[in-house]
Amino acid sequence: MRSRERLIIPYRSKVVEPISLPSREERLKRIEVAGLNVFRLRSADVYIDLLTDSGTGAISASQLSRSMLGDESYAGSRSFEEMRQQIQETMGFPYTIPVHQGRAAEQVLNYVLIRRHSFVPGNTHFDTTKAHIELAEGRAIDCTIDAGRSSEGNYPFKGNVAVSKLEQVIEKYGARHIAYILMTITCNSGGGQPVSMQNIRDVRALASAHGLPLIFDAARFAENAYFIKLREPGYQDKPIIEIIHEMMSYADACTMSAKKDAIVPMGGFIACRDRELYERLKTPAIIFEGYFTYGGMSGGDMEMLAQGLREVVDETYLAYRIGQVRRFGELLQSFGVPIVEPIGGHAVFIDARRFFPNVPEDEFPAQLLCTELYKEGGVRAVEVGAVLIGRDPDTGENIRPALDLCRLTIPRRVYTFEHLEYVADVIRTVREEKGTQMKRGICFDQEAEGIRHFSSTFRYL
Ligand SMILES: *Cc1c(COP(=O)(O)O)cnc(C)c1O
Repeated sequence: MRSRERLIIPYRSKVVEPISLPSREERLKRIEVAGLNVFRLRSADVYIDLLTDSGTGAISASQLSRSMLGDESYAGSRSFEEMRQQIQETMGFPYTIPVHQGRAAEQVLNYVLIRRHSFVPGNTHFDTTKAHIELAEGRAIDCTIDAGRSSEGNYPFKGNVAVSKLEQVIEKYGARHIAYILMTITCNSGGGQPVSMQNIRDVRALASAHGLPLIFDAARFAENAYFIKLREPGYQDKPIIEIIHEMMSYADACTMSAKKDAIVPMGGFIACRDRELYERLKTPAIIFEGYFTYGGMSGGDMEMLAQGLREVVDETYLAYRIGQVRRFGELLQSFGVPIVEPIGGHAVFIDARRFFPNVPEDEFPAQLLCTELYKEGGVRAVEVGAVLIGRDPDTGENIRPALDLCRLTIPRRVYTFEHLEYVADVIRTVREEKGTQMKRGICFDQEAEGIRHFSSTFRYL
């Protein structure tokens, strides 16, 4: 089952950051004080931090040196032009508006494109994306293929949009009530699963037939391109940059969280092909973010972003990135840990209902597993399940998601495989000692309003 090809690591450490494992006694105290919610832990109390791959990547020597060249002029800075040109070269969009991070791009774009009660169908929308669509008084409609809703089955492109569902949505509401079609590449909420080129082409054809814009949420565009190269017939011998150019050629615009595939601590942008859209984006960009040649980013940040885009399309980098995540997942599988298949691009997801088969589903098994991993080994994972999904706005009832997952998110260029072997061993121990023995889960102690997973506290049942 484990792949045998050699992985080439295309970098070595030059600067390191110390980390340490608090004692077991200390860990038990910390998680108790944090109300069994790992978001409430201090990072200093965490040994291996797999909370997110967002803004947590290691910057390169070239990025650091480029940041020194930052032109901090308010308007028309050289660093903006550097970033704009690089985005055009990598993604093909001539117009760019910088923003401070991905959700800001969503806010600005939706302010312009969404009219009241318009719809945005797509593959599983990221949580901030859905929230921003709703804030602009639109509605997100999830049209992901059925295979993307199950943790089993090795379908290679579980992020795909079901074109038939999309057609039904357009038919039901009428094209004039659709603001745009959104494709998230790779699909985060659906398990870090890629979208195929064929699917992008099909969705483009449908969008064009109805005169609708197709927009990408491009946070992990390079990882998606690498999956296309690995898994889609006809792309094995194509350079990554050509695959990216083809992917992007089907989109009218994209939003980008540069904290992912541009490997920077902070930043983002909206890029588009159409001059008129660009002009319409400028005013909300200025109001919400900053003048449209900096939009909340410093000149140094824009230089780093440009350099990050050059580095992320390197095929050796992507082969190691995707390969490291895959090997980590395969190691867990060899220990019998139930994970989402196939293994995605930036994270491995444990199916917590199968990990703790005797814990009732409404007692938050994935949240419980996160606390157990911290207690056992100082590892911080994150719940993507019943806590995150929240309550139905109409009935007030807890929604029961199709999957209750514990996500182990791998930061870019940060941890060695030995770190991940340590994590795998921690998970194995929890499974052996508690997997079937655990009979009760946890409940809210204090449930936070709104986006509840960040600050709620829990207690044992
Ligand atoms: C992270 C992310 C966002 C939001 O970006 P931020 O930089 O965190 O604001 C949007 N979409 C996807 C797919 C993401 O992964």
